[in-house]
Amino acid sequence: MINEILNKNELSRADIIKLLSASEENEHKLLLQKAYDVKCKTVGKKVYLRGLIELSNKCIKNCFYCGIRASNSNVERYTATEYEIMEMVDFAWKNKYSSIVIQSGELSTKSFTDYIEQLLKEIKKRTSNELRVTLSCGEQSEEIYRKWFDAGARRYLLRIETSSPELYTKLHPNDEHHSFETRIKCLQTLRKTGYQVGSGVMIGLPFQTIENLADDIIFFRNNSIDMVGMGPYIEHEQTPLFNERSALIPPMERYKLALRMISVLRIVMPNINIASATALQAIEPKGRIEGLYAGANIIMPNLTPGSYKKHYLLYDNKPCIDDTAYKCNACISGQVSNFGEQVAYGEYGDSLHFISREK
Ligand code: SAH
Ligand code: SF4
Repeated sequence: MINEILNKNELSRADIIKLLSASEENEHKLLLQKAYDVKCKTVGKKVYLRGLIELSNKCIKNCFYCGIRASNSNVERYTATEYEIMEMVDFAWKNKYSSIVIQSGELSTKSFTDYIEQLLKEIKKRTSNELRVTLSCGEQSEEIYRKWFDAGARRYLLRIETSSPELYTKLHPNDEHHSFETRIKCLQTLRKTGYQVGSGVMIGLPFQTIENLADDIIFFRNNSIDMVGMGPYIEHEQTPLFNERSALIPPMERYKLALRMISVLRIVMPNINIASATALQAIEPKGRIEGLYAGANIIMPNLTPGSYKKHYLLYDNKPCIDDTAYKCNACISGQVSNFGEQVAYGEYGDSLHFISREK
């Protein structure tokens, strides 16, 4: 039944819904196999590393799902110093990571946006402008996105979280800080500024339907998104959405659904970069490697300086929080080669989708 769909050249919304619903073991496997074939033929059997630096857990927003939301007074707030960040930049550079991601809660103060600019300039200087920097620092004005681009950032990750405006309002407070329209506008501004644009969604949210997820895939296709990071939603005890946990599908089902989302997206958008989200590993220890088999080609080893990792908890059961950057590096490259792929050390791994769009 899904065989026929897998042989089509273009998938309709109904086809995508059928594939995402293929939970029966044989069909699930068939879908993943097809996605892996597509991946090998387009982006190759290579894994690109993006060292993830969680710069600060200070945030003005109150997303209902997120552990570091402003109103969670249990969180010890931090911002890593320039010295600490540069130690991790040097680590990434020496270990031939092609790129780093600087992620934080959302802050738009002048001191914070200037600090990011300063970090970008320093990274450019230290690495002769050869380390690609991705930012993931939330919604900002066009002026700030431009300022950071001019300082050297080339990629930006801003998950839409869900492409359904109705579901979006159930996941966020109803105020000017949490507007679906603003989020869409930011993605458009990032594109206009010249960034490789990344987005993504959470999978298995309360109230979310398979139709919503199919629409998410169509959203990425319609908006010609260059990179996608999406993973299972995982509850955090100190958040309002935790109260809706009885509406969730069991973790293993959420996990498998997340793998099918990766596979369908790989088939629909063969030449984009897709990250194997860390959240996969919060449910299943082999999660990030299975994500590669589902069609992902990016892994983001955590490079957050030592003691801060345990204060950047977006969800419960975050994996590897006690590991050092060295251990993470060795562990991931070992797991990737056991799986039969190679880490593309020293290669940028720009999104082929972006490269062909630029031409
Ligand atoms: N503040 C920035 C970047 C940090 S949050 C932003 O919001 O864009 C990065 C991502 O973590 C979010 O986009 C969201 O998709 C994900 N996230 C937050 N809480 C989560 C949870 N409980 N389960 C899974 N992913 C979560
Ligand atoms: Fe802040 Fe991002 Fe968490 Fe929302 S998801 S509360 S913006 S860190």
